[in-house]
Amino acid sequence: MQFKDLQLNKSILKAIAEQNYDAPTPVQQQTIPLVLAKKDVITTAQTGTGKTAAFALPILQMLFNKQDAGKKGKKLRALIVSPTRELALQIQESFKVYGKYSNLKSTVVYGGTSIEPQKDLLKKGVDILVATPGRLLDLHKQDCLNLDYIETLVLDEADLMLDMGFIDDVRKIERLCPQEKQVLLFSATMPNKVVNLANTILNEPETVNA
Ligand code: AMP
Repeated sequence: MQFKDLQLNKSILKAIAEQNYDAPTPVQQQTIPLVLAKKDVITTAQTGTGKTAAFALPILQMLFNKQDAGKKGKKLRALIVSPTRELALQIQESFKVYGKYSNLKSTVVYGGTSIEPQKDLLKKGVDILVATPGRLLDLHKQDCLNLDYIETLVLDEADLMLDMGFIDDVRKIERLCPQEKQVLLFSATMPNKVVNLANTILNEPETVNA
């Protein structure tokens, strides 16, 4: 399979071509069509398997398809929750790379650093937000974040997120988003607590084990 077989538009394919990837990895081949079909998905995949692109590419594609909000101001439509600042930064870098030829805007927010510049970034309007759980909730509490238009919620490294004690935050974040949305859960391992979380917040999920 080639990237061009995945129904991605030209601007995304051009950005991928610049990365010199030969072909989609197994996790990408299996996950991307399910995401584009608007399914909820549970993907078990380790770091290094290409899992970030497995959600970033179809999210860019779906948002690109309905890019009508541009003139009226952007609405936050995709939210990626990540356990650590380092991972959040890497994910946003991937969105920037793959979204280079779209005019979709992504930003990243995380704790341990001043909140004011992050508020300013959000005020400018973004389509895609990558965030760590605590800072995301702080920004929401301070009325700097509208989650009413979220179409896709990604929980990345769910096992690590729960190990770090973010279960209540993750559930809170999910409840702040519209009830009708797509949820994608990525995890390196599937202990019971991740399965329980998935059972309560995903809707008839498809599963990928790559
Ligand atoms: P990840 O598993 O998301 O942490 O990705 C690991 C690395 O694989 C990143 O440096 C990506 O740039 C790279 N990568 C992602 N997709 C592909 C692909 N289809 N072919 C080769 N490398 C890739």
